[in-house]
Amino acid sequence: MRLITTTDMRQLVHRVGLDEFNARLLKVLDEDFSRWEQFQLSPRHATHYPHGVIELMPCADDDLYAFKYVNGHPGNPQQGKLCVVALGMLADVATGYPLMLCEMTWLTALRTAATAALGARYLARKESHLLAIIGTGAQSEFQVSALAGVCDIHTVRYYDPDAKAMVKFANNLKERFPRLMACKSAAEAVEGASLIVTATAAKRHNRILTREMVSPGAHIHALGGDCPGKTELEPALLDHAKIVVEYRPQSQVEGEIQNRPEAEIHAELWEIITGRRPGRESDEELTIFDSVGFALEDYSALRLVNALTEEMGIGQETSLIPELDDPKNLFGALVNYPKKSS
Ligand code: NAD
Repeated sequence: MRLITTTDMRQLVHRVGLDEFNARLLKVLDEDFSRWEQFQLSPRHATHYPHGVIELMPCADDDLYAFKYVNGHPGNPQQGKLCVVALGMLADVATGYPLMLCEMTWLTALRTAATAALGARYLARKESHLLAIIGTGAQSEFQVSALAGVCDIHTVRYYDPDAKAMVKFANNLKERFPRLMACKSAAEAVEGASLIVTATAAKRHNRILTREMVSPGAHIHALGGDCPGKTELEPALLDHAKIVVEYRPQSQVEGEIQNRPEAEIHAELWEIITGRRPGRESDEELTIFDSVGFALEDYSALRLVNALTEEMGIGQETSLIPELDDPKNLFGALVNYPKKSS
């Protein structure tokens, strides 16, 4: 079984290159969403606490089984810890044997951003030059980097009440995106924007965006509302939008639409990718990808990392499963070690 540590993930992204990695991730996500009906899917298992959530996210086809352990603790950054950390595993369905245990904190940020790019490819206006991002925490630069792969972004406006997070965001992106504009409010950032990402963290029903703030024809990628009692959009905004989700049974509980159960969900993302439902149909319509993060995205990311690390010789083989000469002698292999010399 291969172990992919944080050092290995850094090395992998460095060697492949961030833009190329994003492009490959986008491609595997597109492939896997296109064969949606081949997967065994279920909503994630969530254990809730007043200050956060811990989740297990499984997804499998007939070849590979993936699952991720992930949390969401909006108060963590105040204690010097990440809001979201994750670990993932990929296993061989034929034997049930694990193939890879993988860091997934970086990989979650990468797959979350690639999923946003996939949605934007089908839902954003072609000439989306102005991107607004609200919340410049850990996920934010990943979002901008991946969206730039599918939209011709000229200007990035950004807002966060945390001035330090705003400076960090600008420092990380200034070489790649010369037109970065710091804003004093979310309203200022989104004015006239054709592409909007909300990536905030707070365990409450927030109203980061209201109907008046958003221009006709905008595409909103709402990713911070991903848990019961944790949302970002004014519910009235949903009444005027074409709403796309990843997986209805999970999104109805965790997404923005928990605040508007009567709102019509236009489609699950796979239905748009496969052409069963239309994506954007006019330059005037408001589209919302009410993204909560779905296990298929982790499956795709792990599938890609497994293939790349194998090809590039990254990671360490590690012994977490006993290797036995006699598979029925599990007991003997444990208690007879180290072998007594007679
Ligand atoms: P983070 O804590 O690093 O950053 C969140 C940022 O939001 C902080 O900088 C904070 O100051 C800012 N913020 C809080 N309230 C705000 C407000 N009213 N206006 C503007 N900014 C505000 O968290 P992160 O790792 O970047 O994650 C962001 C969100 O995305 C979290 O809610 C997380 O749970 C969610 N998330 C979703 C997915 C998904 O697939 N949908 C995946 C990963 C993370």
